[in-house]
Amino acid sequence: MRLLVVEDEADLVSALKVGLGRAGYAVDTALTVAEAGPKLAVEPYDLVVLDLMLPDGDGFELCRQIRASRRDVRILVLTARGALADRVRGLDAGADDYLTKPFALAELLARVRALLRRDTGNGTAVLSIGDVVLDTARQDARRGDRPLALTRKEFGVLEYLMTRPGHVVSAEELLDHVWDENADPFTQTVRVTVGTLRRKLTLPGEDPVLETVIGRGYRLREPV
Ligand code: CA
Repeated sequence: MRLLVVEDEADLVSALKVGLGRAGYAVDTALTVAEAGPKLAVEPYDLVVLDLMLPDGDGFELCRQIRASRRDVRILVLTARGALADRVRGLDAGADDYLTKPFALAELLARVRALLRRDTGNGTAVLSIGDVVLDTARQDARRGDRPLALTRKEFGVLEYLMTRPGHVVSAEELLDHVWDENADPFTQTVRVTVGTLRRKLTLPGEDPVLETVIGRGYRLREPV
């Protein structure tokens, strides 16, 4: 899943990039409204973490603009401690949830997980298809009793595919949602990652789970 963090406190931005990155998300950052605008216009973010107090503009207005152009993106606003009116305004401007500063990273991660799984109709942090189980909170993946030692990108690809079971997902779509703005922008990167993920998912003798649909992309299927 790909996130944009819009926040002007450089230390907080760094901490969020590291913390969210460790949790398996691709993270882009913007320090100002001016920097956020062009990124929001071209990148299909799954979630935006949005500080409401920005140096060059109003986070509320940005929130309204994001919501007006993208109904499906999740917005988590960061507000100053005790500013009840700001929380209400943020929610009215289209935010899905808010977090009061200062906050613990663990709570931010839990809220991000909760917002992202709203689309999947899954009530918990655990995704499963057949005997493949992915715990997004514990960053743990297994097939049956077998733990899968996945890299961060392999985990990200598997998570994205598991939220769309049975759907064909193109390499471009995976690149957009699992890699951040600093990534090598080639779909070959995706092919390599999918290849290693596939080998880890299916050992010799096991039923295939991750299939390639020639010319279109990749699909996860219930093992038959
Ligand atoms: Ca701020």
